[in-house]
Amino acid sequence: MANDFYSVLGISKTASKDEIKSAYRKLALQWHPDRNNSKEAEEKFKEISEAYAVLSDESKRAEYDQYGSDAFRGRHSREDNFRSANYEDIFKEFGFGGGIFDNFFSSSSNEDDGENLQGTINITLEEVAEGTSKEFNYQRYDKCSSCKGTGSQHGKSLETCSNCNGNGRTQRIMNTPFGRVSTVGICSKCKGKGKIITHPCNNCHGTGKQLKSETIKVTVPAGIEQGMQLRLVGKGNVGLDSDGDLYLSVNILPHKYFTRKENDLLIDADISIAQAALGSSIQIPTLNGNETITIEPGTQPNDIFRLKGKGIISIDDRHKGDLLVKLKVHVPKKLSKRQVELLEEFDVEAAKHKGDKKIFGIF
Ligand SMILES: [Zn+2]
Ligand SMILES: [Zn+2]
Repeated sequence: MANDFYSVLGISKTASKDEIKSAYRKLALQWHPDRNNSKEAEEKFKEISEAYAVLSDESKRAEYDQYGSDAFRGRHSREDNFRSANYEDIFKEFGFGGGIFDNFFSSSSNEDDGENLQGTINITLEEVAEGTSKEFNYQRYDKCSSCKGTGSQHGKSLETCSNCNGNGRTQRIMNTPFGRVSTVGICSKCKGKGKIITHPCNNCHGTGKQLKSETIKVTVPAGIEQGMQLRLVGKGNVGLDSDGDLYLSVNILPHKYFTRKENDLLIDADISIAQAALGSSIQIPTLNGNETITIEPGTQPNDIFRLKGKGIISIDDRHKGDLLVKLKVHVPKKLSKRQVELLEEFDVEAAKHKGDKKIFGIF
Protein backbone atom coordinates (compact mmCIF):
# COMPACT_ATOMS: atom_id res chain seq x y z
CA MET A 1 0.00 0.00 0.00
CA ALA A 2 1.20 3.45 -0.83
CA ASN A 3 2.05 5.89 1.91
CA ASP A 4 -0.56 8.16 3.38
CA PHE A 5 -0.30 11.66 1.88
CA TYR A 6 -0.16 13.31 5.29
CA SER A 7 2.74 11.18 6.49
CA VAL A 8 4.51 11.68 3.16
CA LEU A 9 4.57 15.41 3.89
CA GLY A 10 5.14 14.85 7.61
CA ILE A 11 2.08 16.84 8.65
CA SER A 12 -1.01 16.18 10.75
CA LYS A 13 -4.48 15.56 9.36
CA THR A 14 -5.54 18.97 10.55
CA ALA A 15 -2.71 20.89 8.88
CA SER A 16 -3.64 24.29 7.48
CA LYS A 17 -3.10 25.33 3.87
CA ASP A 18 0.03 27.23 4.84
CA GLU A 19 1.44 24.30 6.77
CA ILE A 20 0.90 22.02 3.79
CA LYS A 21 2.57 24.48 1.48
CA SER A 22 5.57 25.04 3.70
CA ALA A 23 6.03 21.31 4.35
CA TYR A 24 5.98 20.67 0.63
CA ARG A 25 8.34 23.54 -0.08
CA LYS A 26 10.88 22.18 2.39
CA LEU A 27 10.73 18.66 0.96
CA ALA A 28 10.75 19.89 -2.63
CA LEU A 29 14.00 21.75 -1.98
CA GLN A 30 15.46 18.54 -0.62
CA TRP A 31 14.28 16.16 -3.31
CA HIS A 32 13.92 18.12 -6.53
CA PRO A 33 15.92 16.21 -9.17
CA ASP A 34 17.58 19.46 -10.23
CA ARG A 35 19.18 19.61 -6.78
CA ASN A 36 19.39 16.02 -5.70
CA ASN A 37 21.28 13.48 -7.78
CA SER A 38 20.51 10.44 -5.67
CA LYS A 39 18.72 7.52 -7.25
CA GLU A 40 15.59 7.79 -5.16
CA ALA A 41 15.21 11.56 -5.62
CA GLU A 42 12.90 11.43 -8.61
CA GLU A 43 10.55 8.89 -7.06
CA LYS A 44 10.58 10.71 -3.75
CA PHE A 45 9.88 13.99 -5.49
CA LYS A 46 6.91 12.50 -7.34
CA GLU A 47 5.58 11.12 -4.10
CA ILE A 48 5.68 14.43 -2.19
CA SER A 49 4.36 16.31 -5.20
CA GLU A 50 1.39 14.00 -5.54
CA ALA A 51 0.64 14.38 -1.84
CA TYR A 52 0.83 18.15 -2.20
CA ALA A 53 -1.34 18.17 -5.33
CA VAL A 54 -4.11 16.36 -3.50
CA LEU A 55 -3.91 18.02 -0.09
CA SER A 56 -3.62 21.55 -1.46
CA ASP A 57 -6.85 21.11 -3.40
CA GLU A 58 -9.77 21.51 -0.98
CA SER A 59 -12.23 19.27 -2.74
CA LYS A 60 -9.62 16.57 -3.41
CA ARG A 61 -8.48 16.73 0.19
CA ALA A 62 -12.05 16.33 1.41
CA GLU A 63 -12.53 13.35 -0.84
CA TYR A 64 -9.25 11.84 0.31
CA ASP A 65 -10.22 12.30 3.98
CA GLN A 66 -13.64 10.83 3.42
CA TYR A 67 -12.77 7.78 1.36
CA GLY A 68 -9.23 7.02 2.44
CA SER A 69 -6.05 6.51 0.53
CA ASP A 70 -6.82 3.31 -1.36
CA ALA A 71 -10.26 4.32 -2.58
CA PHE A 72 -8.93 7.72 -3.59
CA ARG A 73 -6.11 6.20 -5.62
CA GLY A 74 -8.58 3.90 -7.28
CA ARG A 75 -10.42 6.92 -8.60
CA HIS A 76 -7.58 9.23 -9.56
CA SER A 77 -4.38 8.26 -11.30
CA ARG A 78 -1.16 9.85 -10.15
CA GLU A 79 -0.83 11.58 -13.47
CA ASP A 80 -4.26 13.14 -13.14
CA ASN A 81 -3.35 14.36 -9.67
CA PHE A 82 -0.28 16.12 -11.01
CA ARG A 83 -2.02 17.66 -13.96
CA SER A 84 -4.67 19.36 -11.92
CA ALA A 85 -2.25 21.02 -9.50
CA ASN A 86 -0.42 24.25 -10.05
CA TYR A 87 3.17 24.21 -8.86
CA GLU A 88 4.24 27.25 -10.80
CA ASP A 89 4.08 29.64 -7.84
CA ILE A 90 6.17 27.52 -5.55
CA PHE A 91 8.69 26.58 -8.21
CA LYS A 92 9.13 30.14 -9.35
CA GLU A 93 10.54 30.98 -5.94
CA PHE A 94 13.18 28.29 -6.33
CA GLY A 95 13.90 28.98 -9.98
CA PHE A 96 12.86 25.48 -11.00
CA GLY A 97 11.19 24.84 -14.30
CA GLY A 98 7.49 24.11 -13.93
CA GLY A 99 7.54 21.68 -16.84
CA ILE A 100 9.22 19.01 -14.77
CA PHE A 101 6.09 16.89 -14.56
CA ASP A 102 5.71 16.80 -18.31
CA ASN A 103 9.18 15.33 -18.46
CA PHE A 104 8.34 12.71 -15.87
CA PHE A 105 5.56 11.36 -17.97
CA SER A 106 6.57 12.01 -21.54
CA SER A 107 8.84 8.98 -21.53
CA SER A 108 5.99 6.66 -20.70
CA SER A 109 3.60 7.89 -23.36
CA ASN A 110 3.83 7.55 -27.08
CA GLU A 111 4.22 10.89 -28.80
CA ASP A 112 1.70 9.84 -31.43
CA ASP A 113 -1.00 9.41 -28.82
CA GLY A 114 -3.19 12.46 -28.33
CA GLU A 115 -2.99 13.96 -24.83
CA ASN A 116 -5.77 13.60 -22.30
CA LEU A 117 -7.48 16.82 -21.28
CA GLN A 118 -9.03 17.87 -17.99
CA GLY A 119 -11.97 20.02 -17.10
CA THR A 120 -14.53 20.67 -14.39
CA ILE A 121 -18.30 20.87 -14.61
CA ASN A 122 -20.41 22.49 -11.93
CA ILE A 123 -23.77 20.99 -11.14
CA THR A 124 -26.48 21.68 -8.60
CA LEU A 125 -27.79 19.22 -6.05
CA GLU A 126 -31.10 19.20 -7.92
CA GLU A 127 -29.24 18.10 -11.02
CA VAL A 128 -27.46 15.41 -9.02
CA ALA A 129 -30.81 14.07 -7.87
CA GLU A 130 -32.32 13.87 -11.34
CA GLY A 131 -29.26 13.33 -13.49
CA THR A 132 -28.62 15.93 -16.14
CA SER A 133 -27.02 16.76 -19.40
CA LYS A 134 -24.53 19.62 -19.54
CA GLU A 135 -22.75 21.49 -22.25
CA PHE A 136 -19.02 21.87 -21.88
CA ASN A 137 -16.96 24.34 -23.91
CA TYR A 138 -13.27 23.77 -24.32
CA GLN A 139 -10.39 23.80 -26.75
CA ARG A 140 -8.73 20.74 -28.15
CA TYR A 141 -6.38 19.85 -30.92
CA ASP A 142 -8.38 18.30 -33.71
CA LYS A 143 -7.36 17.10 -37.16
CA CYS A 144 -6.27 20.01 -39.32
CA SER A 145 -9.25 20.86 -41.53
CA SER A 146 -7.05 21.81 -44.43
CA CYS A 147 -4.95 18.64 -44.77
CA LYS A 148 -7.31 16.27 -42.93
CA GLY A 149 -4.56 15.46 -40.47
CA THR A 150 -1.94 14.29 -42.96
CA GLY A 151 0.24 17.37 -42.41
CA SER A 152 0.93 17.54 -46.13
CA GLN A 153 -0.26 20.12 -48.64
CA HIS A 154 -3.27 19.10 -50.63
CA GLY A 155 -2.36 17.13 -53.74
CA LYS A 156 1.26 16.61 -52.70
CA SER A 157 1.99 13.01 -51.94
CA LEU A 158 4.29 11.96 -49.13
CA GLU A 159 7.73 10.67 -49.92
CA THR A 160 8.82 7.24 -48.84
CA CYS A 161 11.49 7.54 -46.15
CA SER A 162 14.88 6.69 -47.61
CA ASN A 163 16.35 5.74 -44.25
CA CYS A 164 13.99 2.83 -43.60
CA ASN A 165 12.52 2.29 -47.06
CA GLY A 166 9.11 3.03 -45.66
CA ASN A 167 9.20 0.37 -42.96
CA GLY A 168 9.36 2.92 -40.15
CA ARG A 169 11.90 0.67 -38.45
CA THR A 170 15.61 0.21 -38.85
CA GLN A 171 17.70 -2.81 -38.05
CA ARG A 172 21.13 -2.63 -36.58
CA ILE A 173 23.56 -5.54 -36.48
CA MET A 174 26.13 -5.55 -33.70
CA ASN A 175 29.01 -7.91 -33.13
CA THR A 176 29.11 -8.91 -29.50
CA PRO A 177 31.01 -11.60 -27.54
CA PHE A 178 27.83 -13.69 -27.86
CA GLY A 179 27.71 -13.39 -31.62
CA ARG A 180 25.89 -11.12 -34.01
CA VAL A 181 22.91 -9.48 -32.43
CA SER A 182 20.34 -7.57 -34.38
CA THR A 183 18.23 -4.88 -32.82
CA VAL A 184 15.23 -3.20 -34.36
CA GLY A 185 14.43 0.40 -33.57
CA ILE A 186 12.10 3.13 -34.73
CA CYS A 187 13.49 5.02 -37.70
CA SER A 188 14.91 8.29 -36.47
CA LYS A 189 14.31 10.15 -39.73
CA CYS A 190 10.58 9.53 -40.16
CA LYS A 191 9.87 8.71 -36.49
CA GLY A 192 8.42 5.37 -37.50
CA LYS A 193 5.91 6.67 -40.01
CA GLY A 194 7.75 5.44 -43.10
CA LYS A 195 6.84 8.62 -44.97
CA ILE A 196 8.34 12.08 -45.11
CA ILE A 197 6.31 15.26 -45.59
CA THR A 198 7.98 17.21 -48.38
CA HIS A 199 5.39 19.98 -48.64
CA PRO A 200 4.04 20.78 -45.16
CA CYS A 201 0.46 21.99 -44.97
CA ASN A 202 0.32 25.78 -44.71
CA ASN A 203 -2.41 25.70 -42.11
CA CYS A 204 -0.79 23.38 -39.55
CA HIS A 205 2.85 23.49 -40.67
CA GLY A 206 2.95 19.74 -40.99
CA THR A 207 1.67 18.77 -37.57
CA GLY A 208 -1.70 17.68 -38.93
CA LYS A 209 -3.37 19.31 -35.92
CA GLN A 210 -5.31 22.46 -35.30
CA LEU A 211 -6.63 24.03 -32.10
CA LYS A 212 -10.42 24.17 -32.17
CA SER A 213 -13.14 25.29 -29.80
CA GLU A 214 -15.64 22.61 -29.14
CA THR A 215 -18.91 22.26 -27.28
CA ILE A 216 -19.88 18.82 -26.17
CA LYS A 217 -22.90 17.48 -24.42
CA VAL A 218 -22.12 15.52 -21.30
CA THR A 219 -24.55 13.14 -19.67
CA VAL A 220 -24.24 13.28 -15.90
CA PRO A 221 -25.82 10.27 -14.18
CA ALA A 222 -28.08 10.78 -11.16
CA GLY A 223 -26.36 10.29 -7.82
CA ILE A 224 -22.91 11.35 -8.99
CA GLU A 225 -20.55 12.29 -6.16
CA GLN A 226 -18.26 15.25 -5.60
CA GLY A 227 -14.93 14.86 -7.38
CA MET A 228 -15.95 11.92 -9.54
CA GLN A 229 -14.61 12.06 -13.05
CA LEU A 230 -16.48 11.52 -16.25
CA ARG A 231 -14.34 10.15 -19.02
CA LEU A 232 -15.18 11.16 -22.58
CA VAL A 233 -13.30 8.77 -24.76
CA GLY A 234 -11.56 10.32 -27.75
CA LYS A 235 -12.52 13.87 -26.75
CA GLY A 236 -8.99 14.91 -25.75
CA ASN A 237 -6.37 16.02 -28.24
CA VAL A 238 -6.25 14.18 -31.53
CA GLY A 239 -3.21 11.97 -32.10
CA LEU A 240 -1.79 10.04 -35.00
CA ASP A 241 -2.15 6.68 -33.29
CA SER A 242 -5.00 7.34 -30.92
CA ASP A 243 -6.95 10.30 -29.61
CA GLY A 244 -6.72 11.40 -25.99
CA ASP A 245 -9.67 11.41 -23.63
CA LEU A 246 -11.36 14.27 -21.84
CA TYR A 247 -11.73 13.89 -18.07
CA LEU A 248 -14.34 16.06 -16.45
CA SER A 249 -14.36 16.40 -12.67
CA VAL A 250 -17.76 16.94 -11.16
CA ASN A 251 -18.09 19.82 -8.72
CA ILE A 252 -21.36 19.91 -6.83
CA LEU A 253 -22.33 23.46 -5.91
CA PRO A 254 -23.31 24.23 -2.30
CA HIS A 255 -27.06 24.19 -1.71
CA LYS A 256 -29.13 26.84 0.02
CA TYR A 257 -30.71 24.34 2.44
CA PHE A 258 -29.18 20.92 2.17
CA THR A 259 -25.89 19.27 2.82
CA ARG A 260 -25.25 15.85 1.41
CA LYS A 261 -23.92 12.96 3.44
CA GLU A 262 -23.40 10.02 1.15
CA ASN A 263 -26.90 9.66 -0.27
CA ASP A 264 -28.80 11.30 2.54
CA LEU A 265 -29.62 14.98 2.62
CA LEU A 266 -29.41 16.90 5.88
CA ILE A 267 -31.33 19.98 6.86
CA ASP A 268 -31.79 21.87 10.14
CA ALA A 269 -35.27 23.06 11.09
CA ASP A 270 -36.01 25.55 13.87
CA ILE A 271 -38.98 24.78 16.12
CA SER A 272 -40.19 26.60 19.21
CA ILE A 273 -40.18 25.20 22.76
CA ALA A 274 -43.96 24.93 22.55
CA GLN A 275 -43.86 23.08 19.23
CA ALA A 276 -41.34 20.63 20.67
CA ALA A 277 -43.42 20.02 23.77
CA LEU A 278 -46.88 19.97 22.20
CA GLY A 279 -46.10 18.52 18.79
CA SER A 280 -46.75 20.43 15.60
CA SER A 281 -46.88 20.37 11.84
CA ILE A 282 -44.10 22.18 10.00
CA GLN A 283 -43.18 22.69 6.37
CA ILE A 284 -39.84 21.39 5.16
CA PRO A 285 -38.30 22.03 1.75
CA THR A 286 -37.33 18.93 -0.22
CA LEU A 287 -35.57 18.72 -3.57
CA ASN A 288 -39.01 18.60 -5.18
CA GLY A 289 -41.27 20.99 -3.34
CA ASN A 290 -42.28 21.51 0.26
CA GLU A 291 -43.52 18.75 2.46
CA THR A 292 -45.41 18.90 5.76
CA ILE A 293 -44.05 16.81 8.61
CA THR A 294 -45.72 16.13 11.94
CA ILE A 295 -43.56 16.47 15.02
CA GLU A 296 -44.49 14.29 17.96
CA PRO A 297 -45.24 15.89 21.33
CA GLY A 298 -42.17 15.67 23.53
CA THR A 299 -39.67 16.11 20.71
CA GLN A 300 -36.16 16.61 22.09
CA PRO A 301 -33.55 19.07 20.79
CA ASN A 302 -31.65 17.63 17.81
CA ASP A 303 -34.09 14.76 17.29
CA ILE A 304 -33.95 13.62 13.70
CA PHE A 305 -37.05 13.32 11.56
CA ARG A 306 -36.47 11.00 8.63
CA LEU A 307 -38.23 11.51 5.31
CA LYS A 308 -37.73 8.15 3.60
CA GLY A 309 -36.58 8.21 0.01
CA LYS A 310 -36.29 11.99 -0.21
CA GLY A 311 -32.52 11.92 -0.53
CA ILE A 312 -30.23 11.23 -3.47
CA ILE A 313 -30.21 8.06 -5.52
CA SER A 314 -27.05 6.02 -5.09
CA ILE A 315 -24.84 5.91 -8.16
CA ASP A 316 -23.75 2.40 -7.18
CA ASP A 317 -26.90 0.46 -6.33
CA ARG A 318 -29.70 2.92 -7.21
CA HIS A 319 -30.93 2.83 -3.62
CA LYS A 320 -32.48 6.14 -2.60
CA GLY A 321 -31.23 8.02 0.44
CA ASP A 322 -33.40 9.86 2.96
CA LEU A 323 -33.91 13.46 3.97
CA LEU A 324 -32.90 13.90 7.61
CA VAL A 325 -34.44 16.87 9.38
CA LYS A 326 -32.59 17.86 12.52
CA LEU A 327 -35.02 19.61 14.86
CA LYS A 328 -33.36 22.56 16.52
CA VAL A 329 -35.37 23.78 19.48
CA HIS A 330 -35.22 27.53 19.45
CA VAL A 331 -34.92 29.11 22.88
CA PRO A 332 -35.90 32.80 22.68
CA LYS A 333 -33.36 35.28 23.98
CA LYS A 334 -35.86 38.10 24.48
CA LEU A 335 -39.27 37.60 26.08
CA SER A 336 -42.29 39.84 26.41
CA LYS A 337 -43.77 40.41 29.85
CA ARG A 338 -46.65 38.09 29.03
CA GLN A 339 -44.30 35.37 27.81
CA VAL A 340 -42.38 35.62 31.07
CA GLU A 341 -45.61 35.28 33.06
CA LEU A 342 -46.69 32.24 31.06
CA LEU A 343 -43.35 30.52 31.38
CA GLU A 344 -43.19 31.20 35.11
CA GLU A 345 -46.65 29.78 35.45
CA PHE A 346 -45.58 26.83 33.37
CA ASP A 347 -42.60 26.29 35.62
CA VAL A 348 -44.69 26.30 38.75
CA GLU A 349 -47.00 23.75 37.15
CA ALA A 350 -44.08 21.67 35.97
CA ALA A 351 -42.59 21.59 39.48
CA LYS A 352 -45.91 20.29 40.84
CA HIS A 353 -45.99 17.47 38.33
CA LYS A 354 -42.41 16.60 39.02
CA GLY A 355 -43.37 16.42 42.68
CA ASP A 356 -46.27 14.07 41.91
CA LYS A 357 -44.00 11.77 40.05
CA LYS A 358 -41.52 11.74 42.89
CA ILE A 359 -44.27 10.57 45.20
CA PHE A 360 -45.00 7.73 42.82
CA GLY A 361 -41.33 6.87 42.59
CA ILE A 362 -40.89 7.56 38.88
CA PHE A 363 -37.84 9.72 39.38
ZN1 LIG B 1 -2.79 20.77 -42.08
ZN1 LIG C 1 12.10 6.17 -41.93
